[in-house]
Amino acid sequence: MNIIVYIVTDMEGLAGIDRWEQCYDLDDSSANYKYGREQLTADVNAAVAGCFDAGAREVRVMDGHGRNRNRGFIQEKLDRRATSVWLSSHDPTRLEGMDETVDAVAMIGQHPMAGTLHGFLDHTQFPKELCRFLINGQEHGELSQQAVYAGHFGVPVVFASGDEALCEEARRLLPDITTTATKEGTGWETCRLYTPETVRANIRRDIAAALRKTDRPQVWRMALPIEITIEWAWSAWADRFSRIPGVQRLNARTVRWKIGDARDIYSWPSIKWQPLLE
Ligand SMILES: [Zn+2]
Repeated sequence: MNIIVYIVTDMEGLAGIDRWEQCYDLDDSSANYKYGREQLTADVNAAVAGCFDAGAREVRVMDGHGRNRNRGFIQEKLDRRATSVWLSSHDPTRLEGMDETVDAVAMIGQHPMAGTLHGFLDHTQFPKELCRFLINGQEHGELSQQAVYAGHFGVPVVFASGDEALCEEARRLLPDITTTATKEGTGWETCRLYTPETVRANIRRDIAAALRKTDRPQVWRMALPIEITIEWAWSAWADRFSRIPGVQRLNARTVRWKIGDARDIYSWPSIKWQPLLE
């Protein structure tokens, strides 16, 4: 099939993950965190195998879980056919290796947006600080951000794995997407896991099926400028952002700004990066 697939990973929505510490333990040598990295590598390998089953020419894998600092994959266990995308860039808001040469994006282990009922470890960037993230007035999460970023290059998101709530979010946003459910969230920090071996077999099968679909998948290319609104849990965060030129203060906890480039969806207003002036 001669296509290039870009796999971006997260950890909260992986098969086998049912605790916060497995994704976030700050001690690199903790048993929980090592277990988490094993699950990450296993899910990615299932996805990579599915891509090559479908005849992919190249599969780029990017570790998108911030805490991992790009070292989440267990390299010696990672499918050797995968091309690891190393975030060498001085600009962490850019997804390296995502460009016009990519034919399809797949998300592995993604979690639902902040404020999702029964979404396991649901959040948007900041688990305990960010209440709502809106794109042009509509509530969205990290899945949407990545779809917007890929859309900048005309690349569709064709597959996502995560808990049931994430799969529902994905289908709501992108009706053509194929999803594999890994678990069912029962509370913010609790879930009912599906058998990881079964989930991984499903990931492999489903991602291959998604890539083989011949109908034109949906690309989310957004008109510019794009308006970003964030409601923080704490007014102090809104205070901080509202000092940056181009940021509008809507109320005690809410700030808004506009971006003129879809790739700036991850750019937070700062002295170094400033949004469009009205
Ligand atoms: Zn994450």
